[in-house]
Amino acid sequence: MDAIQAAQVLSEIGYVLRQDPEQRFRAKAFSAAAWSLALERPDLASLHKANGLTTIEGVGPGIAKVLTELMETGRSRYLDRLREQMKQPALDDESSLDFARYQGDVHSHSKWSDGRATMLEMARGAEAMGYRYLGVTDHSPRITVVHGLNAERLLAQSREMAEVQAQVPNVALLQGIEVDILEDGALDLPDMVLELLDVVIASPHVKLRQEPAAMTERMLRAVSHPHVNVIGHPTGRRPGSREGANYDFEAVFKEAARHGVALEIDCDPARMDLSPEMARLALALGCNFTVDADAHAPGEFAYVPMGLWMARRAGIPEERILNFLPLEELTEVLR
Ligand SMILES: [Zn+2]
Ligand SMILES: [Zn+2]
Repeated sequence: MDAIQAAQVLSEIGYVLRQDPEQRFRAKAFSAAAWSLALERPDLASLHKANGLTTIEGVGPGIAKVLTELMETGRSRYLDRLREQMKQPALDDESSLDFARYQGDVHSHSKWSDGRATMLEMARGAEAMGYRYLGVTDHSPRITVVHGLNAERLLAQSREMAEVQAQVPNVALLQGIEVDILEDGALDLPDMVLELLDVVIASPHVKLRQEPAAMTERMLRAVSHPHVNVIGHPTGRRPGSREGANYDFEAVFKEAARHGVALEIDCDPARMDLSPEMARLALALGCNFTVDADAHAPGEFAYVPMGLWMARRAGIPEERILNFLPLEELTEVLR
């Protein structure tokens, strides 16, 4: 059990705890410890041997106990118990996903919208993760509070991107957008702008609690749009605090599969949207996936190694996840 595998177990514990509002602080502690493991990747075996697991940032005696059991038995009875309590039993068809084979993240933000780092800092962060590519997907104009990007600002951004690309040649930068899905399912930027971008993530952000029939129409329209590549955090929920959209998931996922639109597993611990159950449904209906950090700062790239558990639990094989594709194949799919 290495640090990344352990991070996934702690991250899943955090996720399951989050479903219970009373466990909110404990949930956050587990997610924070998972993040710390995924970021620092300490040598757990030697720390365990030296009785030093609590020297890891964010790891107190309780979490150290879980890690000790993981090191000694490869499993966590605490997680098993939580899964049972939350009616999320273990299934025997989990996939195996190796983060070492993950090629790059296609959903990230920079100071061009609500990110906390410059594009250069984000590109360097992706390089430090060993990524081959990075989708820079800031918000569209509708999200006015974050100064979303219109055509003019996208053009200015592309100039900066050319400069950053020259400084970070190992990571192919993909210029994209996280475009808002408007209430009626139209997108927040004209087609002639979207078609110029390398990657288009369409996400629901506002009016998530529309009644299901209208929400279904809205999402069906979005997945049928010719320029959409990915549906970002498809329900917009935040476990334990915001319920997220409710619609005919089966109809929308089927249509997404038909149009070759991938569904995102957003690894931000505050989102973890989809869910193992919904991802499993989407897989059965033929969808592809992206597994992204939705990073707003370089440190958040580590959400992916800690969040991969959800794709594993849903039984999604590597070949159905776009982020495991080499750059040439990815750009073919995104065309
Ligand atoms: Zn979003
Ligand atoms: Zn985002």
